[in-house]
Amino acid sequence: SAPFGLDFGNDTSVFAVARNRGIDVIVNDVSNRSTPSVVGFGQKNRFIGENGKSKESSNIKNTVGNLKRIIGLNYDDIDFEVEKKFFNKNKLVKLDDGKIGIQFRFKNENVTFSAVQLAAMYLDHSKQIIANETKLVIKDVTIAVPSWYTQEQRYAVQDAAKIAGLNPVRIINEITAAGVSYGIFKQDLPANNEETPARNVIFVDIGHSSYTASVAAFKTGEMKILGTGFDKHFGGRDFDKAVTDHFINEFNAKYKVDCRENPKAVYRLLSAAQKLKKVLSANQAAPFNVESVMDDIDFSSQLTREELEELVAPLLQRIRTPLENALKQANLTIEDIHSIELIGGASRVPCLKDFITENYKETSRTLNSDEAIAKGAAFICASASPLVRVRAFKYTDVLTGDVNIDFGDGEFNPVFTAGSPYPSTKLITLNKDADFKITSKNGKNEVVSVFDITGVPKEGVELKIKVRADPSGLVSVPEVYYETVEEYEEEDVDEQGETVKTTKTKSHQTKLNVTHTSPYALSEEKLAELTALELELSASDALVKQTEDAKNTLEEHIYYCKDKVSSDEWKPFASEAELKKLSDLVNAAEEWLYSEDGEDAKKAKYVAKYEDITRYSNLIKGRKKQQEQEATLAKKEK
Ligand code: ATP
Ligand code: MG
Repeated sequence: SAPFGLDFGNDTSVFAVARNRGIDVIVNDVSNRSTPSVVGFGQKNRFIGENGKSKESSNIKNTVGNLKRIIGLNYDDIDFEVEKKFFNKNKLVKLDDGKIGIQFRFKNENVTFSAVQLAAMYLDHSKQIIANETKLVIKDVTIAVPSWYTQEQRYAVQDAAKIAGLNPVRIINEITAAGVSYGIFKQDLPANNEETPARNVIFVDIGHSSYTASVAAFKTGEMKILGTGFDKHFGGRDFDKAVTDHFINEFNAKYKVDCRENPKAVYRLLSAAQKLKKVLSANQAAPFNVESVMDDIDFSSQLTREELEELVAPLLQRIRTPLENALKQANLTIEDIHSIELIGGASRVPCLKDFITENYKETSRTLNSDEAIAKGAAFICASASPLVRVRAFKYTDVLTGDVNIDFGDGEFNPVFTAGSPYPSTKLITLNKDADFKITSKNGKNEVVSVFDITGVPKEGVELKIKVRADPSGLVSVPEVYYETVEEYEEEDVDEQGETVKTTKTKSHQTKLNVTHTSPYALSEEKLAELTALELELSASDALVKQTEDAKNTLEEHIYYCKDKVSSDEWKPFASEAELKKLSDLVNAAEEWLYSEDGEDAKKAKYVAKYEDITRYSNLIKGRKKQQEQEATLAKKEK
């Protein structure tokens, strides 16, 4: 299978694949290099990605975005409280397990899907797009997530990948993936030895919904993330909101209404505000036109860049803390920094760039900032795969939270602390005389993982336990073992030719059984059930698509034949009776197509009608072609 790297964005996602030629961004079904991260539901099928976005304005309640903000979160989580305002058009549901679900009208029924399922639908869609485009099997995936994602959120993303039929090889931090891109594409990094100082780069990723800054130290073939800061709720959508609010106020004042009551009106103004904001990144002023905001009112206004900058001025202050926290955690000052690399769409806002330049340092954009995360993720996925060869590139990240572990005696200690590098493995030595559990908790004192250790000898033994902060930011226990020393006799022949026995020792490792469970990961049974459901939904979507295609093919062919007959183009190649028969068939099919029956029929029906017609039309087409070929041959012979 071809290694797949996914930049799972809140606004749009980017898909990259590692092949032997290199790492490529894969275009979607309408040839775009990024795909809207939305899922929508209709009467017959789902609308995912581009299709979901284009139907969103007419299908508001049944379309959902911001998926990465709800996956793995509890309904009562304080972060969700902040996010709720971005879901005000959707019907939110608290699920039995405390997680977030959304209710939709789908196939004329009310159905609820969990955040994990919705993300899985999107991942499945991305998998199919890549498979269609590259004709490769897509199975292994590395998914990029924000550095601040908790272990719970990482487990949920893994589950979503599994439900989509993917194998989540790694969950990688977005900025780290971008850093890896930088590290593998830059040719001029410092030599990798003790004496040469590293190049310290700050990456600033301001996307649609969140902002992360990390300090990374580069040498040839190596990157160490030294510090990370973030604002989970700061991004382009805050700028959109500032601009939208401005126009909502203007609209309400002008027409003496309150359009906030009308979700469609707000959606239209928001979409236009998003576009306007982007235009103002390249222009000094731009018009703002929205047709039929509500009650058939068309709204026209304009905004200058200067006015936009006034609207968003308070937001700019929020750039400070994460960037400064990243430096602090890295133990560096801005003087130690080689450059500030911008990634993420929102960092294109000129005043935002200027703010960073004025307060910190000149910014640069030497990476393809929209694609660096996906490409880095694909590279990392390929590194873990034996099938695609990539250069070696080492990298470490830093943990954003403490990991507290209890080794079966009821006492939790921080085995890994916030700010320490990972992946990292620690060897713990403990005496045990019975089976026990290793339990890990997060900073919020919630149990994240339980490892059951069985096979401990009753007579007591000194155990060696390897605990690992693994490359996906999760805790694992790769190995638990004890050593026994065995004595044995070895026979040898001495100089006199006599046999002598000597006692020697050899140590032997016995590995114990470790089984892992997490309250945050779905059980095998649940995963199997949801995977089967996703397969069913995607097969049903595929059938709807094929039916539509069959219908279009029939419709096109009807018009094609009508045109050929009425223009007399086929007259020389068919008898009166044949043309009459064809016309009758075509007319009947046309009538049927626009009747209630034909509007919504099964795929086989459209195919059958098409074949009925082509039996005649192909015959005539064939004769025409033959005559033409004979004519050209005759010409050549002359
Ligand atoms: P996140 O990283 O939060 O998950 P994302 O990865 O989907 O989101 P990006 O694609 O990096 O986000 O950026 C999208 C944001 O950038 C949107 O808010 C979009 O409006 C904004 N944006 C994109 N291009 C421009 C531009 N030229 N000027 C201003 N803003 C822009
Ligand atoms: Mg992003």
